[in-house]
This record gives sequence, structure tokens and C-alpha cells, in this order.
Amino acid sequence: MTSPQVRIEAGARPLKVILARPRGFCAGVVRAIDIVERALDLYQAPVYVRHEIVHNRHVVDKLRRKGAVFVDDLSEVPAGQPTVFSAHGVARSVQEQARARDLPVLDATCPLVTKVHVQGRRYAKSGRTLVLIGHAGHAEVIGTMGQVDAPMHLVSTVADVAALAIPRDTPIAYVTQTTLSVDDTRTVIAALEEAFSDVVGPDVSEICYATQNRQSAVRDLARVSDMLIVVGAANSSNSSRLREIGDEMGLSSYLVDDGDGVDPAWLEGVDVVGVTAGASAPDELVESVIAALARWRSVEVSQLDGVEENIEFSLPPELKRMNDAARAAG
Ligand code: SF4
Repeated sequence: MTSPQVRIEAGARPLKVILARPRGFCAGVVRAIDIVERALDLYQAPVYVRHEIVHNRHVVDKLRRKGAVFVDDLSEVPAGQPTVFSAHGVARSVQEQARARDLPVLDATCPLVTKVHVQGRRYAKSGRTLVLIGHAGHAEVIGTMGQVDAPMHLVSTVADVAALAIPRDTPIAYVTQTTLSVDDTRTVIAALEEAFSDVVGPDVSEICYATQNRQSAVRDLARVSDMLIVVGAANSSNSSRLREIGDEMGLSSYLVDDGDGVDPAWLEGVDVVGVTAGASAPDELVESVIAALARWRSVEVSQLDGVEENIEFSLPPELKRMNDAARAAG
């Protein structure tokens, strides 16, 4: 553990705040935000973004103040306006709609989500029946199902696998949403392998480094904490999974948008609070949670040792082309 630093002296009873490492922004989120900001620099406002660029209200509001306009459907984008697809990815029908309208598109789909699309298409081409492990209605799941020209069976639990109306000797391939619980996904894959004689798919450890690292870190954090606060949005899949892991490990675990969401009643009888953040939550929101805790208790903050992440994803080639074209135009 790194050495503690005293943050703010407030009450008599000390409260240890231990931060998970890693926590917060992943490379896919950093890249998506960067794409919107560069598009705003290049084209000036407004730049249109289909769906929340990442699932975090603070991030979205900040970009909105800079001139991003968030829309649910491309029909809301005026002709010729630069349009960004969110990190969660989109269905092919959305890409086709953008092409048909000749919209200049910057695709902020996380490369790890694109990798799932490519895997799905490859498995479909090989003639296997496809199973997608994910949560119905999530933007990434809608995008992935719409990227593969073959039927996909969506499952999220072992019970869903048991209910699949597919002959048991059918060759199966699975792909997964990137932000699921790593342990639950392993269980669902094991159920598929138990139910079907011929199953292929990626190892869980290959799906998303950030999901895996944040979930391992929150387990380590839960072992040394009395209570857990996860900073993230309610519609952020990976943030919800972090809170659930705290619950599973027997801790009172709360998901908050920011410091305003912290209830002082949670601190009763608590000496050590673990704090982490989902992949779409900026560190300034973690700071706001620490500041809120310091209003009620004398807070000492430290950080657990953990994996150092140094992954960066390159920007999409369209951005470079558009950048060059704008420069050439003067
Ligand atoms: Fe990409 Fe993983 Fe971040 Fe999702 S959580 S945006 S898949 S790096």
C-alpha cells in the first residue's frame, strides 16, 4: 500500500479511505472522449454524438458544454454535420444510415468492442451458431447483435443457457459483452460447455483488460475495507459489476455518481472505506467523494498497490484524414 496522506481534518473519529488501483478511466473511454474533443477543435461546435459517448453524466455534460450534441438517432443530425459513434459501438444499420446521409463519421467504438464484432463475424462465417453473453438492451449488446449478419442467441445466466432451444450437438461459438462480471461469465461459459458438445470462444481473460483489472482490484480492496463506494453511473455496466462484487464479498456497497450521492449514515460503525470507480468515471468524481467523506470524518487517504495500466488505443484513421483535409483547406 502506498503511504497514507492526511487530506482534511473534520471530525474526531478517523476514517481510512483506501483507493483501488486501477480504477476509473480505461483506454477505450480516454480515446472516445479524445475523439469528441478533437472533433470539436477541428470542426467547431456543434459536433453530434450518437448515444452517450460513455455512460457518465458528468463526462457527457462537460462535452455538451463544449458544444457536443447528443442524439439517440441519426435522423436528428442535420445534413453534413460531423457525427461520432459512442465507445459502445453501433449496429451496421446505423453505419449504413450514416453512409446514406453522407455524414462525416468519427467512430469512437472501443477497439476491444470492435474485436468482439470481428470475432462474431468470423464465427458466423465458419457456420457456428452464435451465442452472445450479455445484458439485453445495453448499447454494446445492441451494437454487437447488429454487426453480425447471423442470428445470435443472447444469454446472461446459466438458466438462459439451459433454456436455449438449440440441438445439443450444434457447433456453438460464443462472444461476450466486454463489461460483464468476469466470474459470472466464466460460469455461463462453463454451462455452455456442459450443455453443448462443440463450443468455441475467447478466454475470459482476453475480453477486456480494464474490466478484468478493475474487478480484481475491487476484490483486493473489499478484503481490507468495511464498506465500499463505487463511483459511476447507474447505467454503467462495469460500475454496477464492481458494486455487485463488493456485495458478494459481504460489504455494504454503494454506487454513487459523485460526492453528493454519499449518505453519512453509511459511515456508522465504519473505520475503513474502500473507493473505486468504473471505467467511465473521471478521477475528479473520486475526489468529490473523498471531499464528501471529509465533511463528516477525519479522512486519511491511501491507495492499494495494483496493476499499472499503460494501454493506449490509437485514434481512428478517419480522424487523421479529416484533420489533414481541414489543414489542407486552410
Ligand atoms: Fe474498451 Fe474495456 Fe474500456 Fe469498454 S471497458 S471501453 S471494452 S477498454
